[in-house]
Amino acid sequence: MITTPNRTSNWFTRAVSDIVGGLGQLLWPAKCANCGEHSVETGSGLCGDCWEGLTSVCSADYCRHCGRDVSPYVACEGICPNCRDEEIHFDGIARAGRYAESLRKMILAFKNDSTELGSIMVWLADTALQTSTFFNDIDFFVPVPLHWRRRFFRGYNQSYLLARGLKHHSAEISTDLVRIRNTKEQPTMMTVAARAKNVAGAFAVRYRHPFAGRRICLVDDIKTTGATLNECAKTLKEAGALKVYALVLSVAGQNNV
Ligand SMILES: [Zn+2]
Ligand SMILES: [Zn+2]
Repeated sequence: MITTPNRTSNWFTRAVSDIVGGLGQLLWPAKCANCGEHSVETGSGLCGDCWEGLTSVCSADYCRHCGRDVSPYVACEGICPNCRDEEIHFDGIARAGRYAESLRKMILAFKNDSTELGSIMVWLADTALQTSTFFNDIDFFVPVPLHWRRRFFRGYNQSYLLARGLKHHSAEISTDLVRIRNTKEQPTMMTVAARAKNVAGAFAVRYRHPFAGRRICLVDDIKTTGATLNECAKTLKEAGALKVYALVLSVAGQNNV
């Protein structure tokens, strides 16, 4: 016999939890997930200041080829003057914002075990994906891999967490791109050439990978010079990938040409 006690108890549990949650919020207002100081003012879990900082770095126009800030009047056929002569192996990029203000702080915390920021980071990445030029041109999301040793000590790959939260009607996640060399940490001041050398030959695809003739979207948290994304895209194309795009939370190094 079918009964409905669960529906009643679920309704009751939800109502009680809403009342208790509402009371709790009144008595002990939730603190901002970014600064931890001010009370949450928006539905995002952030205070007004952090939300404002976030929207300021996420609202600028950017070049769909390299991801840097660009005025729509300067881009020619979607390519900005900064990247016209660069060797870029990926076919397009989407970003949530510039690596500055509260977005920079949140990404650093997200990489350092602050998983409560995960839902905001996923929401930002997903918004960038939905408004990208290549949304309907993806077969696989491929998180930029960490070397197993770094992954082991950190406990998670932040790019995989981002990829897992993306909404798409058909694309699947593949982890068949691997990092075979544990590259040095890349300080912000490292030159473009030094970064490229640091990651050269650092990636490979697994035996029986699914990439031949497919369209890939790499997922990462930060693009600085693009050396890592470039090397990943090169490896995937050598494995037969048709197209490789990049989705990142933020783009740093605006002046690195
Ligand atoms: Zn805040
Ligand atoms: Zn550009």
